[in-house]
Amino acid sequence: MNKKKDIRALTKEQLRDFFVENGDKAFRGNQVYEWLWNKSLHTFEDMTNISKQTREMLEENFVINHIKVDSMQKSNDGTIKNGIKLHDGLVVESVLIPTEKRTTACVSSQVGCSLDCKFCATARLKRMRNLNPDEIYDQVVVIDKQSRLYHNKKLTNIVFMGMGEPLMNYKNVLKSIEMITSPEGLGMSSKRITVSTSGVPKMIKKMADEEVKFNLAVSLHSAIDEVRTSIMPFNTNFPLKDLKESLEYWYEKTKRAITYEYVVWNGINDRKEDITALVEFCKYVPCKVNLIEYNPIDDGEFQQASNSAINNYISNLEMHDITVNVRRSRGKDIDAACGQLANKA
Ligand code: SAH
Repeated sequence: MNKKKDIRALTKEQLRDFFVENGDKAFRGNQVYEWLWNKSLHTFEDMTNISKQTREMLEENFVINHIKVDSMQKSNDGTIKNGIKLHDGLVVESVLIPTEKRTTACVSSQVGCSLDCKFCATARLKRMRNLNPDEIYDQVVVIDKQSRLYHNKKLTNIVFMGMGEPLMNYKNVLKSIEMITSPEGLGMSSKRITVSTSGVPKMIKKMADEEVKFNLAVSLHSAIDEVRTSIMPFNTNFPLKDLKESLEYWYEKTKRAITYEYVVWNGINDRKEDITALVEFCKYVPCKVNLIEYNPIDDGEFQQASNSAINNYISNLEMHDITVNVRRSRGKDIDAACGQLANKA
């Protein structure tokens, strides 16, 4: 067993203290911190402005755990799916999604998932562990490099829509975003980051209290408790009434609109009353609706609703002045689309 501590688990202050305690200057901590985060260096040896003796001392005390791209698949639409190996051998997936105007990284926050959505491949893996902040950060670094290499442009957006429920790994997700947005990290804008949740009311309120600056998306899929519980069983513990209340709280504090993700399935949520319930739900706080194409994951228990059912949703939402987008799947041919991430490759 390796007893050395992962150096990226230390805050900048802790790193500065470490150097002072070891008879060096606090400033050395800043230099090492810059190598670790801003420059994403994974070896002490290459820290060229640090003396050999200090580098050896670091080597004796710490490791730099980091992710490795284990497999890479390219879709014919330009989407790239990465199998990412973590330091302990577990694997998560991260996806690069290029469009004309932007390139988006879809990152994972847990190995497997804490929740049990019946239509999602990741849910079948169960939760194995939470990702550390640096493991989330590294996914963004990897995808930014791929974006530059294969699409000649830097990464513009990040969505926490890979494996896992970000709000069940709240502390680490927030820490990763802090580093992604910090000038000491990647310096990206929080406006271009979206955290997607199945809806954990307590954590949504906590985020609002902490005045986070990123965007919030909620995987709604139904605005009727009975239906939602049948496809997302955890809804029993976090019913729509509590979700609604937390979203109102979020909006009151942040004044930022919410995106609802919604898949329409045959015989599940394609009735008139499902649409009416969604329209009502959308009145609570300013929002928009993304209708996501369903990506089949199994034997056909779930089937994408007909175009006419989807058009009914669109016309009803538009009639009530609710913005609605239809999101086509990307990377479907390589199982990189929403809900398909399950380490199959
Ligand atoms: N746990 C978070 C983050 C995962 S995001 C959340 O639920 O928001 C993944 C998105 O894809 C969610 O909106 C999820 O509901 C949706 N999804 C899951 N399985 C899907 C599938 N098979 N087809 C289309 N979308 C799916």
